[in-house]
Amino acid sequence: MNLILLGPPGAGKGTQAQRIEKSYGLVQLSTGDMLRGAVAAQTEIGRQVKRIMDAGELVPDTTIIEMISERIDHADCAQGFILDGFPRTTPQAEALDVMLEKKGMELNHVIEISVNDELLVERITGRFTCAKCGAGYHDKFQKTAVDGVCDNCGGTEFSRRADDTEKVIRTRLQAYHAQTAPILPYYQEKSRLRQVDGMASIDEVEQQIAAVLDGGARP
Ligand code: AMP
Repeated sequence: MNLILLGPPGAGKGTQAQRIEKSYGLVQLSTGDMLRGAVAAQTEIGRQVKRIMDAGELVPDTTIIEMISERIDHADCAQGFILDGFPRTTPQAEALDVMLEKKGMELNHVIEISVNDELLVERITGRFTCAKCGAGYHDKFQKTAVDGVCDNCGGTEFSRRADDTEKVIRTRLQAYHAQTAPILPYYQEKSRLRQVDGMASIDEVEQQIAAVLDGGARP
């Protein structure tokens, strides 16, 4: 089963992808995580995209499409994958369709996690992850059980994304509305799009997504 999670930054795509990954045996493919990995490893791509990401703008389509095309050929994607943060523009959505057809793969679900913009800034500025296992937390909405200790692995080091500042978030939201929201009609026309309420609790959103995934291939 292959699916796309769509929604603005801070909608909870990463959190939900981590949960679906575990319960459905799929692999999460986050273009943001891949790019952050490339920046940290100072690869050629990493050097090219760092400034763009720090500013909250979008990386060129060709870079992203090549990266995803190469990644979904890996053996761990054979059981299915969750695209998180991709596609983000109409050319990316079109390229994905062509790519999947060439590879003989299918897109089973496109799920939009819809959230009110007002909530997003608060959600994003408060989030942090365990530096060891990547588990996600939030200063207000999802604290660790013991202060400073990861619930999942016991790690004591945490990190925050460089682009999770209020100024950069505003640019990322603008990029979402200008470049990513226009792909929703693309999937609507193909009758693939399903919507879940991202304002609900993390557990409730997970249940809504599970209902879509368990309820048949297409609406
Ligand atoms: P994310 O972790 O999905 O919020 O992505 C963080 C940043 O990586 C974005 O603000 C963009 O600069 C870049 N990025 C991630 N995915 C894409 C994509 N599909 N297309 C263009 N830029 C992307």
